[in-house]
Amino acid sequence: MVVKMKRTARILNGIEIAAQIKAEVAEEAKALAASGITPGLAVVLVGHVAASEIYVRSKVKTCAELGLWSEMLTPPESITTEELLELIAGLNARDEVDGILIQLPLPAHVDTRRLLEAVSPEKDVDGFHPINVGRLQSSASHGIEAGKALAPCTPAGIIEILRRSGIAVAGQHAVVLGRSEIVGKPAAMMLLNASATVTVCHSKTVDIGRYTRDADILVAAIGRPGFVTVEMVKPGATLIDVGINRVTDAAEVARFFPGDAARAAQFAQRGSTLVGDIHPAAFELAGAYTPVPGGVGALTIAMLMKNTVTAAKARRGAAARDSEVAAAKA
Ligand code: NAP
Repeated sequence: MVVKMKRTARILNGIEIAAQIKAEVAEEAKALAASGITPGLAVVLVGHVAASEIYVRSKVKTCAELGLWSEMLTPPESITTEELLELIAGLNARDEVDGILIQLPLPAHVDTRRLLEAVSPEKDVDGFHPINVGRLQSSASHGIEAGKALAPCTPAGIIEILRRSGIAVAGQHAVVLGRSEIVGKPAAMMLLNASATVTVCHSKTVDIGRYTRDADILVAAIGRPGFVTVEMVKPGATLIDVGINRVTDAAEVARFFPGDAARAAQFAQRGSTLVGDIHPAAFELAGAYTPVPGGVGALTIAMLMKNTVTAAKARRGAAARDSEVAAAKA
């Protein structure tokens, strides 16, 4: 049996990094406001899904804090795909709308793919449109870092955490668990763009530990509480835990957090606690790790704000410059 030594891992604090990004976005919004542009986000929330309502309120509140304007459209659950397509076309046509976000999941009768593809790629602040997926494939990492591309918010947040924490990516072996369109695949592409050697594992991968044990950077995005155990981790690795799993069983909480009085108290009070896809015991072996909560999850809204300002600059900044040039020539 291999005995792995406990080490003191560095915590990659997503809340602090998100605060840095938000401060930068607020500065950019202020500079744009000086030239008459207030970046604007339209959020479409269909029906009443409690969790979605909480996320959307938080997005709207953050817009106000950073000097962006936002608009919430709340069509009823019964709305059809055709009616939603009309609504999106209206938002595409409005110049003051820089970003359009369709809060997912949508009701089962709505064609989600058609709607995501109807959003103008220039306003696609979620980075889900095939044009932006394609741009991500063909862009080098500096394109994302310089804020030129609209990349999906959660994986873009992962890259920001690594970059701002000074964690080397080029030449490292990055292993991504999960291949979803919103996290796993774009995260793998962005790590590849940043010159990592990338392995992607999924539910059909045989012997996942064989890959994770060799990972210098391990990104877990599968939605399985505590899936990555201490035996699956290379000592000193950077562990990025994207998973957000609500655990409501007391025995499970005790298994994940033995002797953690703060977690036990939180569980007693709320009846649940959040656990990532990486078992907390594995963090002790890491060189650095993102906690759950307070890690990757904290970055997502900050990256949405950043994308909205990026979209405003790309579309309206260019338009403003063109009209200045035209005025100077006249
Ligand atoms: P998803 O769409 O359900 O995809 C899960 C992926 O994990 C799939 O590719 C699946 O493989 C793979 N998978 C599932 N079970 C597995 C197993 N036992 N072994 C290996 N691979 C397995 O999930 P998602 O939307 O990407 O989200 C993943 C996690 O991240 C969830 O906990 C979610 O809550 C969290 N999340 C967090 C944020 C945030 O921090 N803001 C944002 C989005 C998601 P197949 O493709 O083979 O089915």
